[in-house]
Amino acid sequence: MKVPLLDLQAQLEYLEDDLIAAVTRVVKSTRYIQGPEVEAFENEIAGYCGAAYGVGVTSGTDALLISLMSLGIGPGDQVLTTPYSFFATMGVILRVGATPVFADIDPLSFNIDPSRMEEVLAADTERKIKAIIPVHLYGQCADMSPIMELATRYGLPVIEDAAQAIGAQYPMASAGDLEYKRAGSMGIAGCFSFFPSKNLGGIGDAGMVVTQDKDFAERLVLMRNHGAQPKYFHKIVGGNFRLDPIQAAALRVKLPYLERWHAQRGENAKRYDRLFSETGLPGTDQIVLPKEVYPKVSSGKDTTANVHIYNQYVLRVDRRNELREWLDKNNIGCEIYYPVPLHKQECLGTLVSSVHCPEAEKAADATIALPIYPELTEAMQAYVVEKIVQFYA
Ligand SMILES: *Cc1c(COP(=O)(O)O)cnc(C)c1O
Repeated sequence: MKVPLLDLQAQLEYLEDDLIAAVTRVVKSTRYIQGPEVEAFENEIAGYCGAAYGVGVTSGTDALLISLMSLGIGPGDQVLTTPYSFFATMGVILRVGATPVFADIDPLSFNIDPSRMEEVLAADTERKIKAIIPVHLYGQCADMSPIMELATRYGLPVIEDAAQAIGAQYPMASAGDLEYKRAGSMGIAGCFSFFPSKNLGGIGDAGMVVTQDKDFAERLVLMRNHGAQPKYFHKIVGGNFRLDPIQAAALRVKLPYLERWHAQRGENAKRYDRLFSETGLPGTDQIVLPKEVYPKVSSGKDTTANVHIYNQYVLRVDRRNELREWLDKNNIGCEIYYPVPLHKQECLGTLVSSVHCPEAEKAADATIALPIYPELTEAMQAYVVEKIVQFYA
């Protein structure tokens, strides 16, 4: 049996005609820059996330970059973030001329640990930290209640890197109650990627920033188009960060499937949990299953309440690199997100050499992502588990 990490071909079986029709619609419209597809998609995503505004951009990376640029973060500034994420999270900080500072992760969720953040912020006596970028890794929100509390206390804007977490929900403490908030709707900016491997993936690169703040949304719109207003009169230095209407049209075909895909991924995760539990492996120190750290309730009108959208199903395992080779040999797709923590990346040189984030370093040596895409079958999952059991036998 062959089990790929992701199978976009399986999606095409039911999406191909609609995707081609959407692309054709854009081609025939001759509206190749901005236009109605982009605008409609922005409104749909903002609405889906419970945000007031959506600003479509070229990629998830550019969503983060344009957010930092629009907040005026630059040389001399520091940005507090997690050491365990895709490179883009840190890359954008460096590209605006700022310096990343790190707070280690919580080993259960792999997300930035608010208590570590508190220590880092308290130690920043010169107040050089000018923004916070938490990442909702693998599809589960970072612990946003204490993060927003710290942000308020220190007067810092929060840019959510929600590239892996569109639609994930977080139980935000609100007047003694819990209110479920969607990823991206809590900070000043929520940054999404529509890279093809995300839960909502385009037919190329695309991204979006959502926000509740009208002034910030206007600034993003200006920044995305070389700071021009009107055309050829440049108020600020921006760039070309515009979302392609072909991507917007294709993504609008996929958006109605998103909740179902989240649910299918969630069911696949539950099935892995059950299949692994039956083997007895998770009781040993050879395998630790992923953990949903927040309570899941069906809240009012929203009956789905996906607290985790399982963009990735990530195990912590013993002898990780050997297991990876074994899975490769058995035609099972897997990936390591991520083998090197951000503070250890070569491109940093000596910039952050004294940083110590032991939990991120441990995670980098132990994590492995298994296939979790919606169309995965039960037989495929049983095969994956069987092969992993064989490896540890
Ligand atoms: C995918 C991803 C990005 C970057 O998105 P692109 O659209 O590929 O530029 C940023 N941050 C995280 C956590 C991601 O997973």
